[in-house]
Amino acid sequence: MVGLKFVCDRMLKRLAKWLRLSGYDTVCEEAFNTTPEKEDTYLVENFKDRILLTKDRELYHRRISRGYPAKLITSNQVWKQMKEVMELGVKFYPVTKRCTLCNSNLRKLKEEEAKEILEKMGLGKDLLKKELWFCKNCKKVYWIGSHWKNMIKFLEEHGLI
Ligand SMILES: [Zn+2]
Repeated sequence: MVGLKFVCDRMLKRLAKWLRLSGYDTVCEEAFNTTPEKEDTYLVENFKDRILLTKDRELYHRRISRGYPAKLITSNQVWKQMKEVMELGVKFYPVTKRCTLCNSNLRKLKEEEAKEILEKMGLGKDLLKKELWFCKNCKKVYWIGSHWKNMIKFLEEHGLI
């Protein structure tokens, strides 16, 4: 289900990256407006429209008892965590929709823009042959390349697709 939205606790940063990479709106510690000591209470009371993914059993129970959505993640390896999230209807597959670092929507670059940005960043002009996406927030350029194949290989090897 594409409409699912998540908030991941800071133990689940890699899982958050995979969710963003697959197009799911997922916030993590960058979006937490609190101090580390108050973080658990903050995560119980905020992001009520998102499913909280957490490895912390106590936090999970506090959140659920308030009637807000949460799922307890028990595995340590990211691919096993991904399997747990798939129980919610998540499908993992890389798409150029969200920045994996900050969750912002990516924007497809027009040719002139792409030239300018690649030059500024010192990236090779051969990238102009590819479709390029840009995160305005992180100033990061995304394109489909060999790293993409590696991600798909990872998903295949672990039976995630
Ligand atoms: Zn970004």
